[in-house]
Amino acid sequence: MAKGLRDVEISPPVFDTLEEALEYAQRFQRPQSFIDEFVKLLKGRIELSADPKYDPRLLATESAVISEGREAIKIGRSGLIHDSELFKTLIHEEMHLRLIRKARRDNRCALNIVTYPDVSVEEDYVERIAVRYLRMYERASGKFKH
Ligand SMILES: [Zn+2]
Repeated sequence: MAKGLRDVEISPPVFDTLEEALEYAQRFQRPQSFIDEFVKLLKGRIELSADPKYDPRLLATESAVISEGREAIKIGRSGLIHDSELFKTLIHEEMHLRLIRKARRDNRCALNIVTYPDVSVEEDYVERIAVRYLRMYERASGKFKH
């Protein structure tokens, strides 16, 4: 659920070689396959509730559909610019989905977060978890190139 409060890095990466730039550009030619491949990085770390779908019409970096039975994670074009941001975004959206699911099962803490009038409370909560996952991932596997 992009509520316009997330700070996402969207400045284009800098390339050392033409080869590298061309390889990078492939993600925008076949965005869905890029996302599918990328999701494999998460395997064993976190199971996503929905397969992320590329949505070229999405103006925001990402969004999550939280309606029961229609849960989805959507990634916009700007969500593909940086690998580290895409990683964080997928965890972020997954946390929104988990939170609403817990709230539906009457988990008080989750319910308090999702119903709190100031939406930044939920945003901060899920983003903190996403940042922590990114740090853990990069500690174990090295920094993302882009
Ligand atoms: Zn969000």
